[in-house]
Amino acid sequence: MIVTSYKFRLYPTKIQESKLEDTIEICRTLYNDFIFESHLAYKEGYKIKFDELQRMIPAMIPKDKIYSKVAQMAFWQFYNNLKTLSALAKRGKRTGKMRFKPKTRYNSINYNQSGFKFLPNGKIKFSKIGKIKCVIHREIQGKIKEIIIKKELTEDWYAIVVCENEITSTCSLFRKKIVGIDVGINNFTYDSDNHSIKYPQFFRKSEKKLKRSQRKLSKKINNSNNRWKQKLNLSRIHQKIKNQRNDFLHKTSRYYVDNYDTIFVEDLRIQNMQKNHHLAKSILDSSWNLFFQKLEYKAVNAGILFRKISPHNTSQKCSRCNKLVKKSLAQRTHSCPFCDIVINRDYNASLNIKQKGIDSLPVGYREVTPLERIPLTMI
Ligand SMILES: [Zn+2]
Repeated sequence: MIVTSYKFRLYPTKIQESKLEDTIEICRTLYNDFIFESHLAYKEGYKIKFDELQRMIPAMIPKDKIYSKVAQMAFWQFYNNLKTLSALAKRGKRTGKMRFKPKTRYNSINYNQSGFKFLPNGKIKFSKIGKIKCVIHREIQGKIKEIIIKKELTEDWYAIVVCENEITSTCSLFRKKIVGIDVGINNFTYDSDNHSIKYPQFFRKSEKKLKRSQRKLSKKINNSNNRWKQKLNLSRIHQKIKNQRNDFLHKTSRYYVDNYDTIFVEDLRIQNMQKNHHLAKSILDSSWNLFFQKLEYKAVNAGILFRKISPHNTSQKCSRCNKLVKKSLAQRTHSCPFCDIVINRDYNASLNIKQKGIDSLPVGYREVTPLERIPLTMI
């Protein structure tokens, strides 16, 4: 099973919006009530049980104002968090008590399996809320498991539709097109076909906007109306960056999945990624991971092979003669003193990633993968 989620913008009416806000508030109160109950029981030296808590729900929520399953999910959320905490404590980790959720930290409700219906006019009907206008810009594939309605900091509403897909497709044995992809600071991707995808301009533009907005915010007086407005402005910029980035990552991953049937990338967890407080860098870091996630699920959906390989020496090794050629980050060219090849540094890395990927395949796979060891185009 593979889980995919889609995020769609919701346009509730004023009345629906206030109903949504009420529901969130009921769930938050419920969540906090459960924390209170469990703290109380703990003080009395009593371990409260799952069904005991669950039985309390009807008495804790206002009748007819909330879809009962939504309240159940708030309880589930509480119970899961409690379980996670106690599991951590059992493993000897220092854990505090569960903390009450303030209004600012509780902003979603969960319709699990029922209570929602997609209508032909583009609306989604939510039980106890109504028919909310929704922009469904992508086709939903798979079986819908749940819809999470979320209010972002920008005060916009979104529906996160979570689906499950069966993995039906299998990888074909006869690989045709294999690619190794290097991600980096100079180009977003550089691949073993000597093709690169640049960072979109908005990374830099948005960074400037963010900085300006943050600077303005720091000058506003605490708790003032202007500060609140500026905060909203900042959240909107964050949201916009998120949307733009998502769009770019979808397109980039789509390109590779449409053009290749085996994709190799570096496992970035192993690589010692430098922690950098520079904003642009932090956007990039998270982009690479998101990019791989998108590549992975698209690859699974399309029945093609996606694999992460160890990044050890991929940038230092010569892709033609396999000798180590040490170079600093600033050196953009791979110039091998042993075999005289001169190519782009990232291109060299992507060729190594491709070769490492092929080496990681079972022998039967490898036999049907003729590989050009020598890059065709040189710079
Ligand atoms: Zn060489």
